Amino acid sequence: MADYLVRAIGDGGNVRAFAAVTTDLVEEARRRHDTWPTATAALGRALTGTAMLAATLKDPDESLTLRVAGDGPLRGIICDADEQGQVRGYVNEPHVDLDPTPQGKLNVGGAVGSGMLYVTRQLALQGIYTGSAELVSGEIAEDLAYYLTRSEQTPSAVGIGVRVGPDGAVVAAGGYMLQLLPATPDADRDRLEENLVKLGSVSLAVEQGMTPEEILAAVLSGIDYQILERRDLRFACKCSRERALGAIALLDEKDLAALVEEDRGAELTCHFCNEVYRFSEEEVRRVREGMQRTQ
Ligand SMILES: [Zn+2]
Repeated sequence: MADYLVRAIGDGGNVRAFAAVTTDLVEEARRRHDTWPTATAALGRALTGTAMLAATLKDPDESLTLRVAGDGPLRGIICDADEQGQVRGYVNEPHVDLDPTPQGKLNVGGAVGSGMLYVTRQLALQGIYTGSAELVSGEIAEDLAYYLTRSEQTPSAVGIGVRVGPDGAVVAAGGYMLQLLPATPDADRDRLEENLVKLGSVSLAVEQGMTPEEILAAVLSGIDYQILERRDLRFACKCSRERALGAIALLDEKDLAALVEEDRGAELTCHFCNEVYRFSEEEVRRVREGMQRTQ
């Protein structure tokens, strides 16, 4: 099953709901960054959360960035997503694998540490807006729910899970996000809460083959709702050879000279996707000569 998310509205517009399966994109991130299990779970949860937060973007130029600035061994997570469902991200220290929690779960909170969470929306009409909130547990889903409730004044429930197999590969990943308007009747709130308890672990649900539509049906059981959109998701980066060469062209003459004369070429690694771009001495020389001509 390819990754995608669904977006729905329920209870006469009082409830907004999102559900996603992200197994392939999280596995792609793990493979590219060579993350170890605790880092895989942290990055996978952040990627899934970013994909769901970005599901309300409407214009092809719009994007959303999630920054988890924790003081734990991961040294921070950065993810972004656009309106087309292209998601990318990285952790600053991919080789983190902590002992499991007493409940036998991956210790994502310990790997993230304490600090702040930032969400930046780059919108076509309203411009750039950044909101922030303290991390409450470092477990990502809880932190996102707290951020949405406090900073964006939208009471929210978020569940995100990543299951890592014994060989370190991602077995299942996915999540849901539920947002309630103040007018939601108490009876419906109670019902939704019961639904979430009943659903339990979302990663287990995905591992058992539940689709985003089925996760949504479980989350919204007993509530009238309507699916508004289905959006494909994939790990994709905006970097390219041209952009990397453009970054080299921004170096000053001294650094360019050193690349040509000492390094005999240049190598650039994209943080977001770990793609390595290599340029020969000749290519760097041409960039340098082009610069000299324009000076
Ligand atoms: Zn890249």
